[in-house]
Formats: sequence, structure tokens, C-alpha cells
Amino acid sequence: MTSAPVYDVIIIGGGPAGLSAGLYASRAKLNALLIEKAIFGGQIANVERVENYPGFPEGISGYELGQAMLQQAMKYGLETVAAEVTAIELAEQAKVINTTEGEFRAKAVIIAGGAEPNRLGVPGEEEFLGKGVSYCATCDGPLFKDQVVAVIGGGDSAVEEGIMLTRFASKVILIHRRDQLRAGKLFQERAFTNPKMEFLWDTVVEEIRGDDKVSGLSLHNVKTGDKRVLEVSGVFIYVGLHPNTGYLRGLLPLDSEGHIPTNEMMETEIAGVCAAGDVRKNSPRQIITAAADGATAALSTERFLSQHR
Ligand SMILES: Cc1cc2nc3c(=O)[nH]c(=O)nc-3n(C[C@H](O)[C@H](O)[C@H](O)COP(=O)(O)OP(=O)(O)OC[C@H]3O[C@@H](n4cnc5c(N)ncnc54)[C@H](O)[C@@H]3O)c2cc1C
Repeated sequence: MTSAPVYDVIIIGGGPAGLSAGLYASRAKLNALLIEKAIFGGQIANVERVENYPGFPEGISGYELGQAMLQQAMKYGLETVAAEVTAIELAEQAKVINTTEGEFRAKAVIIAGGAEPNRLGVPGEEEFLGKGVSYCATCDGPLFKDQVVAVIGGGDSAVEEGIMLTRFASKVILIHRRDQLRAGKLFQERAFTNPKMEFLWDTVVEEIRGDDKVSGLSLHNVKTGDKRVLEVSGVFIYVGLHPNTGYLRGLLPLDSEGHIPTNEMMETEIAGVCAAGDVRKNSPRQIITAAADGATAALSTERFLSQHR
């Protein structure tokens, strides 16, 4: 009977941070396994066009970029498993990773589980998920051809995805609880000059309404107190993200939002455990910074392993 291998390093998450860690670890000849529960590429897999990752002057589809990162890492020997990590045990010698596809062991771990969209937390949101409520404009935008849709939020993701939706929808109404956007100036300029975009300021959604699918939103103006119903066929929610660290509670120190504190070498307080990308405290939450974190985490892991032979 052959016993299960003990990997040098297991990487949790196949977004830009995890895939870069996988590339660097594999090229350093570490025996590395990457575990991904959904789509390789992570959040960017659903991004229509990435314009700020260096090397692509015309931009590149997020899905293509993610797949290219995966292929490049696998070319150097990175192993992958499609599974969700449900629990981990961080003993000094072997780290045990429990997943939906069984148990894996490694001498070191890189946590790169990234982040997932926050829910708005209003009535109708769960009920109409997939029936007009969406967190992914690239995935669901084409379903709303010539219809009026709302986007909730005021950051980069809300504005960028709202602009993208104007390619399909007849009108995109961006609803924001403040009186100005948080998005970068370039996105703001594009949004304000887009004839299909409208803005509702100081406004929050109280309920998503409909029968078998979304038909409207109950809105509340937080400055004037006015309440009204806005008719829309779809609502795209971009109100921030939360880190995928639920399974780490009690094992690692986390900040109040669940992010993992690290030093500048991506090391956590536990020897042999690094964190990289959006999951990390103070991450700038960009593809390039996630990729850089992943590379740094792999280099730190290589050094840790060489000191613990
Ligand atoms: C709509 C949108 C547009 C964006 N546009 C840009 C842009 O144009 N430019 C830019 O630089 N950045 C952009 N970003 C931000 C960028 O996508 C993130 O900063 C980046 O993806 C973070 O990479 P990551 O590897 O840390 O995490 P993620 O991309 O979140 O990847 C984490 C991966 O881990 C997996 N995972 C999580 N938990 C587990 C588990 N328990 N077990 C197994 N697998 C797990 C997830 O399924 C996911 O695939 C955008 C984000 C969004 C939402």
C-alpha cells in the first residue's frame, strides 16, 4: 500500500495570488499542490476586460488571463485538485488540509482564498438570486438585453460593471448610498459620459420586489427620507467583498473583517503558513498585487523549507 504524499506546500485558492505562488513554487522545484473550489483565475475569471495588468496594452479578458496563469504554473509541475478546503490543522511538522475530496498533507501552506461578494442583506435578495439578482455582470449581463437594470454600489467594481452592462441593457441606474462615487477617476469619467447611465445618490435599497422574478426595488433616500419604487428587470450588487477565511477562525489571528495579518514576506504568525492576495490584511486588492504577494509567499515558503529539512 502506498501512503499519501506529503507535499512541500499546499496552496489554497487558484486566483492570481495562488497561481503565482504555484508558478514560483514549481519553478523552485517544490512539490506543490493547489486546491481550488470553483474557477481557476478566481475573481478575474468573470471580469470582461482587465486593462491595468502590465504587458497587455489592449487589455485582456480576465478569464484568458487566469487560464494563462494556470497553464504557466502547470507547465513547471504544479498539481491541482478541484475541491473546497473545509478545515485545516496547522501542527508544527505536517499541516493537514481537509477538503471535500479528502485529506492532503504538506510541510507548508499558502492561504490564497481571496474574497467573495458581500450580500446587501435585504428582503428578496436570496429569493430572486438567479431570477434577476446577480453579483456578476459579465456572467448575467447578456440576459438583460434592452431592459432596465440597477447596479448597487459606488466603488470600482460597481462602476466598471455598470459601464459593461450598458452594452446590453437599455438603461443602467447606479444606486449609491452616498452623494459621490468611490471609483477611480477614469471609471467615473467613463460612467458620467455614458448616455445609458443614470445615478441615484444618497439612496439605499430596502427590498427587491417581484413575483417569479425581479420587477422592482423599494428605495429610500437617506437625506430627504423619500421612499419610492423603481421598476427594473435586474439588479447587480457590488457592495464590497469579504475574505474567504471562515474555516480559519480560531486557528490564525484574523482582523475584525476576517483578513489575515502578515509581515512583508507574507508570513503569518504560524511558522510555515503564509497568506497572499485579497485574503491578506491591507491588501490593495488588485491582480498585480495579489500576484506579487503569491510570488513573495512562495519565496518565503522556499526559505522556510530549506531551514526545516
Ligand atoms: C468585478 C471585479 C472586477 C475587477 N477588476 C479588476 C481589474 O480590472 N484589475 C485588477 O487589478 N483587479 C480587479 N479586480 C480585483 C481582482 O480580481 C482581485 O484583487 C484578485 O482577483 C485577487 O486575487 P486573489 O488570488 O487574492 O483572490 P481571488 O481572485 O478571490 O481568488 C481566490 C480563489 O480561492 C478560491 N477559494 C476560496 N476559498 C477556498 C477554499 N476554502 N477552498 C478552495 N478554494 C478556495 C476561490 O474560489 C477563488 O478562485 C476586480 C474584482 C472584481 C470583483
